[in-house]
Amino acid sequence: MPASKNTYSQEHAIHLDKQDELASYRKEFYIKEDSIYLDGNSLGLLSKRAEETLLSLLDSWKNYGIDGWTEGEHPWFYLSESLGEKMAPLVGGLPEEVIVTGSTTVNLHQLVASFYKPDDKKTKIVADELNFPTDIYALQSQLKLKGYDPDKHLIEVSSADGHTLNEDDIIKEMKDDVALIVLPSVLYRSGQILNIERLTAEAHKRNILIGFDLCHSIGSIPHQLSEWGVDFAFWCNYKHLNGGPGGVGGLYVNKKHFGRHPGLAGWFSSQKDKQFDMDHELTPAEHVGVYQMGTPHVFSIAPLIGSMSIFNDAGITNIRKKSLQLTRYMMDLISHELAEHGFTIRNPKEDHKRGGHIYIEHPEAARICKALKAKNITPDFRSPNGIRLAPVALYNTFEDVWKSVQVLKTIMEEELYKQFKNERGVVA
Ligand SMILES: *Cc1c(COP(=O)(O)O)cnc(C)c1O
Repeated sequence: MPASKNTYSQEHAIHLDKQDELASYRKEFYIKEDSIYLDGNSLGLLSKRAEETLLSLLDSWKNYGIDGWTEGEHPWFYLSESLGEKMAPLVGGLPEEVIVTGSTTVNLHQLVASFYKPDDKKTKIVADELNFPTDIYALQSQLKLKGYDPDKHLIEVSSADGHTLNEDDIIKEMKDDVALIVLPSVLYRSGQILNIERLTAEAHKRNILIGFDLCHSIGSIPHQLSEWGVDFAFWCNYKHLNGGPGGVGGLYVNKKHFGRHPGLAGWFSSQKDKQFDMDHELTPAEHVGVYQMGTPHVFSIAPLIGSMSIFNDAGITNIRKKSLQLTRYMMDLISHELAEHGFTIRNPKEDHKRGGHIYIEHPEAARICKALKAKNITPDFRSPNGIRLAPVALYNTFEDVWKSVQVLKTIMEEELYKQFKNERGVVA
């Protein structure tokens, strides 16, 4: 089909889908008929490959009993390491720098316990006022554990516009008394990408360690953590990586920090061949594996094995390219079709600053989201007035984006949202 002259037409959306080199992956996912899922940045959808690996690990329990730790296609004892190696290209790390373990919150606790070493001069931790609450709670409790008052020792860089951070403001807070910096790679609301390379270089100039929360960037944008010299990073695997609800998370530690004991040790921090010696003196693993604590949650890792094979086949560069096209297309349609309806686009517009989702605000956001759900479109409401829309490269189409904006237009023109109460539900 030739390109339609009218870039706002449905024909144009269909034309874009025909040119999409990742289009074949959509049929690998479970997508409810006649529905559009735009919440893959909160919980990614189940793929057939992820389902298969989950069932395969159930089978290995069935068939091997305890021998499943070392037998079968995916021996449980080595799963965290082997999957970490496969995940390393997504963060631009070496195979021995990435491990699948814990959860975002647990991994942050582990990494701060390991890398926050206050002394007479350096005691403060720098974070930001737009960060996800769990990150802030973890930093506050780590400070308290070391005997410091979070009100004085946790510096939250403020945002001038309430949606984005200015990197110069962050650098201004990199003072002599700062020991550690923890920031998101992509802000969970506005989707702003922070310049990890620049912030890392500036932190290191001042002898400050720096780590990043990759929850909203992993699986949607490429990273070069080793090249940039980032000290550590952590993330969850259930958002863009489609690892399943409550799925096990991941972490990265730069190899320059290898050879130390972790802040929070457990028997899985051990060198693998020494672990079953049951010695009371830990022989720490020589790589990132040392940041594990206890027995891995095998069934909560299992779907990720299948999901990661999709990412390795599709390639993160291709995923990012399509994601940028989708979000650009969505912004264009929103600006064109919804101009009169009081929406404000709050995510950064530039490609190099925009993550994998669009963030719009509207005073009636809560009930607009309910009206969308009633029309089988799943958005992501963020209290009090935000709507996140994530067209995901692996399973959303350009036509999904076109249809969603059309439905949104109908909801506004016909005031269908007024049939709902403007208040949030329990989740979101
Ligand atoms: C999703 C998310 C989390 C979630 O943490 P869990 O430990 O998996 O519950 C934490 N931080 C950020 C920035 C997130 O986006």
